Order: sequence, then C-alpha cells, then structure tokens
Amino acid sequence: MKTLSVVVPCYNEESGLPELHRRLSRVCRSYFKEYQIIYINDGSRDATWEVMGSLAQGDPHVEALNLSRNFGHQVALTAGLERATGGVILIIDGDLQDPPELLGEMLLTMREGYDVVYGKRRRRTGESWFKKITAYLFYRLMNYCADIEIPTDTGDFRLISRQALDAFLQLPERSRFIRGMVCWVGFRQAPVFYERHRRYAGKSGYSVAKMLRFAADAITGFSIRPLRLALFVGLGFLLLAGLGAVLSLFGWQESHLLAACAGVAAVVLLAAAVQLFILGIIGEYIGRIFIESKQRPLYVIKDVIRAHAGGDEVEKSLLASI
Ligand code: UDP
Ligand code: MG
Repeated sequence: MKTLSVVVPCYNEESGLPELHRRLSRVCRSYFKEYQIIYINDGSRDATWEVMGSLAQGDPHVEALNLSRNFGHQVALTAGLERATGGVILIIDGDLQDPPELLGEMLLTMREGYDVVYGKRRRRTGESWFKKITAYLFYRLMNYCADIEIPTDTGDFRLISRQALDAFLQLPERSRFIRGMVCWVGFRQAPVFYERHRRYAGKSGYSVAKMLRFAADAITGFSIRPLRLALFVGLGFLLLAGLGAVLSLFGWQESHLLAACAGVAAVVLLAAAVQLFILGIIGEYIGRIFIESKQRPLYVIKDVIRAHAGGDEVEKSLLASI
C-alpha cells in the first residue's frame, strides 16, 4: 500500500491543533500503515510553534516546520509539499474547516483512476456573508478570466497523487495560486462534495488585504485577459469621441453650452480614470515580472523538528528552498 503525506499550513492555530492532530491521526491510521503529517508554522504570533513542537516530540509521524516569518498560506503550503515524501498527498487546512474524515471517500474516488480529488463545498456554515459573497464573485470572475477551467467553490483541500505533485513542484512561480496550479498540471481530476464547517477555534488568518493579494495573484497568474481590457475600453472611447465630433459639427453645443461643458468635463475625467485603472492593471503584471526576475527563494525555514522512530532529530538551520 502507498504511503500518505498530509500537509497542514498553520497561522495562529494554537487552540485547534491538538484536536486536529487527534482526528487526523485517527483517520491516517485507519487507512495507512505508513504516513507522515507535516505541520508548517507560517510565522504565527501565538504558541502554534510550541504546540507543533510537542506534537512532533510525541509522535514519530509528525514533522514540524517553522518558517522564519509569515510568508502567506500558499507559500507555507508549498514548503510542506516540497518535503512530502508520500505516494499520495493530502492538503488540509489547520482549522478543521475541512473534515479529515473525508480522506476515505477521497481515496475511493482516487482508486477509480483519478490523480487529483478535490473537496468541493456544498455548503459553508459559520462564515460571514462578506466571505461568502466575495468567494462567490471571485470564483466566477476567475473562471471568466482564466485560460483554464478552475473548479468553483473549492479550496486547497485535496488528495493528490505523487505523479501530479511532482508535476506541480516543477512550477517555479513566486506568485502562487495553488488550486489553479494543481488544475493546470492536468491529469484526471474529480470532486468530492462536502459541507464546510465553521472553524474549530481561533479566527481567519486571511485579512481583506491578504484576500485581495490572493485574488490578484490568482487572476494575473492565470490570465492576461485584464490587459486586453485597454483595447476594448480604448475602442469604446474612440466611438464616444467620434460622436462628440459629429455633435459639435452640427452646432449642438451652442444651444446647450453649459450642459455640453459639463459633459465634456465628465468624459475627460472618466477617460483619465479609465487610463489610471488600466495603468494599474499593467502595473500589477509588471510588478509580478519584477518579483519573478529577482529569483528569490520562496521561503526560509528556521527550524525543523522530526521525532523519528529511531530517536529524536531536531534540525536548527537556515534552509532556503529552490
Ligand atoms: N494560513 C497560513 N498563513 C496565513 C494565513 C492562513 O498558513 O498567512 C493557514 C491557516 O492557518 C489555515 C489555512 O491557511 O490552516 C486557511 O486559512 P484561514 O482559515 O485563515 O482562511 P479561510 O478559511 O478563512 O479562508
Ligand atoms: Mg479556514
């Protein structure tokens, strides 16, 4: 039987972690003789790292990674995925919003010949209207823009085969939208439906700023359609300008002088706003080219704690990935 790696990125999850570990371990044990659980501490401000440390000391299946600061969910997840050695890999959030017990159903689906089995939310309980509406709009906008079809209403909760993970690990980009990247690698992918529960403890680590950055990474990473906006809007304004010229030729402005002045001012302002907006979009892409060109490592690891069956091993090092 294949081995399993579970990858769990965590930011301020001290209160929920022991319960997650209990439920996760029970599920892993019931399907696999050999498994590893990789917890990644993404620069938490609470005692998450201490809790992870004690889990790792007490359980030889656990590997705990401590990043040197908060690098963000998608990068923390990448750090774990790069260390996963299993034949199948489960990605799961650290707040118990994704039920570990779904692993059984995911494995069954994978055995039908799929390489990626993703959790698709049937219902989201205990999340704010703001979160639900922004998530709904994001997935629809994403699918309108993106050149590949990314399944709607999914998170990163998924089971991936070794082959699909190896393909994924070859994507080197710095701005990471992992659910899109996993989709991009192809292979046979299938959903498993589930109800997304409220957090077990703590609160969401995704601030509005982080959500906006995430959405910008997703859209710019998978589509150049926003850049084409300039062409269409430019064309629209050309038509407007033509219309204005025709109207002035017929002396329409003389009898409606004030109205015409106001109209002209509005059009000029609108045109300026549109230009700035489009300049902003271009800037987003240029900024990303700049970030990619620096070729910095994605993250820095501060500590690793791994309590092997043969004896404790605690690495304290400054490792950089890629
Ligand atoms: N997370 C992380 N780094 C961050 C923010 C979040 O590793 O900067 C983790 C978090 O601990 C959780 C997962 O990413 O395991 C999803 O985050 P969260 O639950 O805050 O997002 P939401 O479910 O509200 O979208
Ligand atoms: Mg969550």
